[in-house]
Amino acid sequence: MPGSGAALGGGPRAVPLPEEYTPYVWAATVAEVAARHGLDPVQVLKFDQNVPPLPGVAQVPLAESFATLNQYPPGAYRDLREAAAAYVGRDSDSEVGWEQVVIGAGADDLILLCARTFLAPGRSASIIPPTYSLYRIATLLAGAQASVETEGASLLWRCNPGNPTGVVTPAAELVELARRHPEAAVVVDEAYVEYGGETVVPWLDECPNLIVLRTMSKAFGYAALRVGFAVAAPATAALLEARRAPAPVSAPSARIAAAALRDPRCDVAAEIAERERVRASLAAAGFDVPPVAGNFVWLRTDDDLDERLEAQGIIVRRFPEGIRVTLRRPTENDVFLRALGAAPGPLPGREATLIRTSTETALRITLSLEGSGRSHVATGIGFLDHLLTLLAFHAGFDLDCVAGGDVDVDEHHTVEDVLAAFGSALQHALGAREGIARYGSAVVPMDEARATAAVDLVRRAHAEISLAFTGERVGGLALSLLPHALERFTMEAGCTVHVESAGADDHHIAEAAFKALGQALRQAVAPGDGGIRSTKGIA
Ligand code: PMP
Repeated sequence: MPGSGAALGGGPRAVPLPEEYTPYVWAATVAEVAARHGLDPVQVLKFDQNVPPLPGVAQVPLAESFATLNQYPPGAYRDLREAAAAYVGRDSDSEVGWEQVVIGAGADDLILLCARTFLAPGRSASIIPPTYSLYRIATLLAGAQASVETEGASLLWRCNPGNPTGVVTPAAELVELARRHPEAAVVVDEAYVEYGGETVVPWLDECPNLIVLRTMSKAFGYAALRVGFAVAAPATAALLEARRAPAPVSAPSARIAAAALRDPRCDVAAEIAERERVRASLAAAGFDVPPVAGNFVWLRTDDDLDERLEAQGIIVRRFPEGIRVTLRRPTENDVFLRALGAAPGPLPGREATLIRTSTETALRITLSLEGSGRSHVATGIGFLDHLLTLLAFHAGFDLDCVAGGDVDVDEHHTVEDVLAAFGSALQHALGAREGIARYGSAVVPMDEARATAAVDLVRRAHAEISLAFTGERVGGLALSLLPHALERFTMEAGCTVHVESAGADDHHIAEAAFKALGQALRQAVAPGDGGIRSTKGIA
């Protein structure tokens, strides 16, 4: 890649890159790690991308965006820029105008934009390792040189809080740096600021050479949307705006991001608490884990811990100075802690992670009862994914479920095993079942269909399931499997479940049944007064 720029075997001549150039490298994929270590993909957990474990939820109806897929997004992104300006302004107690905001396809796009705005051959940029690798890539792509030196640099890249170290640089120190180098652009990447950082936004007017980068990929949980923004003094923002691509962010992405910025619903407090729980366990086990302000922990080591972890299906990010481990759900983090021989501290809520592999199916499920109804479900059977997503949403659970089964035979084993594992995860997450409401019931109509569900979380496994389907299949799912799978769910959960649903449309009948079961579970797992209620004195 580096060198003369000539492609092997001839072809077009790219601009030559210096020998030291290396392109961006992602950590190994789940499939690669599974193949390398003879694991099933469901046994592999990624702790490498610094993204929240569950997706942010779109807070706008998207139908409108999809009705205009033939049109470009409004290139000025006025709505998104106003929402971003209000968000950073509120966050930093300062006045920020929409014209101070520049939109990009993720902070990455804005890093490249800053590089092409301020760097060129003969110029240099200051980078202090270990830090985010794209600063160096962007610098070298612009033909400039990278060094730790600040003197004479045209651009100073600073990451605050730092990635991978999680170190917070006081805002005043960065402002001072900007004052000392008035002709250089000081780009402060605040990708992780929500996790405990300090922002330089209040100084943008005073220091026109400061540029703040923000992203929707971290605290907001929208990495797939590719939305980031830069904030700077109006004239500096105009320099960037004049050089950006005409429409870097898709219209649906821009709409989802704007809605979230206006009404942020991030889980940062819980993620920070979880970070400290994990850090405390690691510290107690003797690891060198300094304080961090990020959604990750930074473990300083020159051991090959990353290789040992990878052999156990745990993917982390390796740096010469240590390993960076992104936080996932608490019970998933416990898998990582145990792999390092650290004793996990008490869990913050009722949650379970199960990994099951058999000759017929392999699945991993993480179920959190103190959730907000978010889910990531990938079983390979679309209609089953839909039903589980609805169940989690209506129960208010957070659910991550990946499964692979012998669907080439038929979907029987996958459907049954997934619902059985869901029940088992519920059983584990409920623990001693103390202090819960115990009963829940719901009647849920869906157009012509009507479902009722009743749940008793006492430890007596009994299922009465009656789903009056009129046909055989919805999508890839044979409907006859559902009653049996719900029975398996009930047996494994160790509780009593009654579900009845009837109507004219099978899709509605199934959907209403899973929604009703979700609503009933939500009530039953909720805190009640005292222990589990029973006239027999015991559950
Ligand atoms: N800056 C830092 C410090 C990061 O860690 C990352 C993501 N790895 C990014 C920017 C990229 O963010 P985005 O997804 O918005 O491109």
